[in-house]
Amino acid sequence: MCSSQFNVDLAAIDANLALASERNPGRAVLLPVKANAYGHGIVPVARHVESVGSAQWLGVAEVSEAEQLREGGVELPALKFSPCFPEELGRAIAARLTISVGDVAGVEAAQEAAEHAGVRHPVHLKVDTGMRRVGVQPGEAVALATRIKNSPNLVLEGVFTHLPISDCPEGEEFTRAQLARFLAVVDEIRGAVGEIPYVHAGNSGAVLGHDLTGTNLIRPGIIAYGYRADSTTTWEGLSPAATWTSRVSFLKRVPEGETVGYGRTWTAPCDTWIATVPVGYGDGYSRLFSNRGRMLVGGRSCPIAGRVCMDQTMIDLGPGEPQVAVGDEVVLLGRQGDEQITMEELADLMGTITYEVPCLIAPRVPRLYV
Ligand SMILES: *Cc1c(COP(=O)(O)O)cnc(C)c1O
Repeated sequence: MCSSQFNVDLAAIDANLALASERNPGRAVLLPVKANAYGHGIVPVARHVESVGSAQWLGVAEVSEAEQLREGGVELPALKFSPCFPEELGRAIAARLTISVGDVAGVEAAQEAAEHAGVRHPVHLKVDTGMRRVGVQPGEAVALATRIKNSPNLVLEGVFTHLPISDCPEGEEFTRAQLARFLAVVDEIRGAVGEIPYVHAGNSGAVLGHDLTGTNLIRPGIIAYGYRADSTTTWEGLSPAATWTSRVSFLKRVPEGETVGYGRTWTAPCDTWIATVPVGYGDGYSRLFSNRGRMLVGGRSCPIAGRVCMDQTMIDLGPGEPQVAVGDEVVLLGRQGDEQITMEELADLMGTITYEVPCLIAPRVPRLYV
């Protein structure tokens, strides 16, 4: 048994991907597994979706992530969303990682590396239609696609773009314009170099909220794991994939007027029972939850008393004789009885989006799969 554990329901990921597919029938599904599958464990998640067929592609941010996948026996094609540095290309090709390119230097380096490896390697052309992060400008896309087409060791396997504001109503018009611009560029590229196997743009927000006609692959990330971007996002029907649980490690009565924890920031308002839980910011349980967050124990919601420590946190059970014992389950994220703590609630308390919360859960917290 461990101090805390992050429990991942793999079937929930399948259900969320099925929902994404229902909204976008006939399209291949690429599951982003960057950042350790949004904290859910890259290899177990990828192996699962490969074995049940709920995704046909994987998306990563780092060459090392593709290497982890291959070492873990995952065979699905994988796309690196962001450009490779030239010195990474050999490893990327060896890991059968599809490369994305967005400028002439990137195409030339990829051609050279593929030639050196003695292969024809697939690349996806990234077009910048408004994210202003990476990718070729729309006006230069045809020339770059033609350069790829004329590179003897490269195959132009895909063209894609990214949508920075597809997840909120205020972004409706901007996203629609991006998609129109993208599809126009794709048409021009087709005119110059012929058919392109994969055309893609749909991240979570677009998968649920936009018309992705003209694309044939979707890239739903956060919704695949079952979370809304934040508590204001109106997405419905998702199944949260993870819960985070711990156990009571110590129980004690604290008299009225005594303080609990570092900095003495919490004072007992009356004689009360305080439970200690062996989880803290060293596990990625944010110190921002100090005196603001809550945990579920004995089917009740109990506020955090004082500061979250590196490895432990104290919660206030209240004045009555405690109905819990050392060893009892504590829920940091998920349901217990009628109570629920969501990823959106944790994100709000941290002043961030759901994406960041599981990304920050430390490697020492074991990921368990159900
Ligand atoms: C991370 C990422 C996605 C997934 O985004 P979500 O908002 O989690 O759906 C899709 N495409 C690219 C290029 C990404 O970097």
